[in-house]
Amino acid sequence: MKLTFCGGARTVTGSAFLLEAAGKKLLIDCGLFQGGKRLRARNFSQYPYNPAEIDYIILTHAHIDHSGLIPRLVKDGFRGRVLATPATTDLAKIMLPDSGHIQMMEAEWTNRKNKRAGRPEADPLYTVEDAEKALNYFDSIPYYQQENLSEDIILKFYDAGHILGSAITELIITENGKPETVVFTGDLGKSNQPIIRDPDVLEEADYLIIEGTYGTRDHEEEEQKLEKLQTLIHETVNKQGNIVVPSFAVGRTQEMLYFMSRLMRDHKIPNIPIYIDSPLAISATEIFSRHPECFDLQMRQLLHSGQDPFHFPEAIFTQTAEESQKINRLPGGAMIISASGMADAGRIKHHLKHNLWREESTVLFVGYQAEGTLGRRIREGRKKVKIFGEEIMVRARIEAIDGFSAHADRTELLKWLGKFQQMPKQVILVHGEEDVLTSFSAEIEKKFEVSTYIPNYMETMELKPLPEEVEDTSQVMAKLKARELLREWLDFSEEFTSRLELALLEEDDEERLIQLEKELESIKGCLVENF
Ligand SMILES: [Zn+2]
Ligand SMILES: [Zn+2]
Repeated sequence: MKLTFCGGARTVTGSAFLLEAAGKKLLIDCGLFQGGKRLRARNFSQYPYNPAEIDYIILTHAHIDHSGLIPRLVKDGFRGRVLATPATTDLAKIMLPDSGHIQMMEAEWTNRKNKRAGRPEADPLYTVEDAEKALNYFDSIPYYQQENLSEDIILKFYDAGHILGSAITELIITENGKPETVVFTGDLGKSNQPIIRDPDVLEEADYLIIEGTYGTRDHEEEEQKLEKLQTLIHETVNKQGNIVVPSFAVGRTQEMLYFMSRLMRDHKIPNIPIYIDSPLAISATEIFSRHPECFDLQMRQLLHSGQDPFHFPEAIFTQTAEESQKINRLPGGAMIISASGMADAGRIKHHLKHNLWREESTVLFVGYQAEGTLGRRIREGRKKVKIFGEEIMVRARIEAIDGFSAHADRTELLKWLGKFQQMPKQVILVHGEEDVLTSFSAEIEKKFEVSTYIPNYMETMELKPLPEEVEDTSQVMAKLKARELLREWLDFSEEFTSRLELALLEEDDEERLIQLEKELESIKGCLVENF
């Protein structure tokens, strides 16, 4: 069995794992890279495999960082089946064409620049049409149903409790007459999330590929986060400002509606209009309503008692661009929930443009902001940002509530892992930033005495038990020293690159560049000396 990490390795986006086993080629997730330029360039890079040779794509959930490259694969010859739960399949039907639309707009924007610079035109990564074609390859497999992919490969989905339809993938693969279990957690959900169920507990696997987005952090308690939300709504509304919430259309938006309806029902906040200004979020909310099989007990009880947390008088869904523009003319006192969640595309950019400069407004982040995105820049406290080429002063109050994450936090990940009856032969950590995964793996090794591994981008590893190695002390010491140096170098180069990018992107300051070059030379010298 061979596993190649085509994405989601030492980073949170672009999840794609190629599993070659029992004569088949399976791709677990096929996600888009999001964030900075360097990461996004990977979306256009060459495949380490031939798309036509992939038998199955197993899609853990509909988030674009897991599904967003499927249309590209189909365009380039994939003719197998895409397997996903029924809710994931429905969500993909709206999310992939939406992604195609974003790709086309991005290409158009790049081409305008290319034209001015006399460069040739570039094609979009894929189009809406490509995305729609890709949907023909989808096949729904319900949770807990055993699906034989071949005589030697059995697939079963468990509930990952991350977003509607999200699944933990279990594959039982028989090679040389010996069955082994490989489990991919996909994105693992937070317990007690509203609407959907908690992640299922698994008790055994030979190889576990686990996500570690929040491997070093714990979320805020639910009560704390609701109190924070309550306070900032009061304070912003009193000043006649708006609360602008960049939000993922799928999951987070419905969760916000759920909490807002609850706070209003309990008279903890005034009844303010909530604009859900994202066609995608509107369609996603409809899909939620169509999949009650994914709901947890409380949600089912709420619906049963006639209190639909998605449809109440204050929730206003704005479908057309005209309705959306009207929101910008509001004086204040409203909540505007809009996509994209990291503010790098979609209608949210207009709302930020109209509210960031207003002292009385609040921008509330309720989701992860990847490096290189507009959301990250605002959250990090930039005093001005560029939106649609225009420089906007940031005077609004900037707030973040991390507790809304759809990911298990450090404590929950460890608890989930602790439920295994017997530890896997190997725990492979993916879907996390490098430093987070490094600390998280150390903690797992210490706590469970299990071997962990953090793969690199495009690395291929053989899935087999590790041989018991006997090493002499000097070898071990040398290895440790080398690892330490490598770590230092990686830290430095990462910081250097981001500073360089900053200088290039925003400052164009020659002096700073010269300074950075000098620093690079000196650290290089220092490393060589040490080695
Ligand atoms: Zn996800
Ligand atoms: Zn993800």
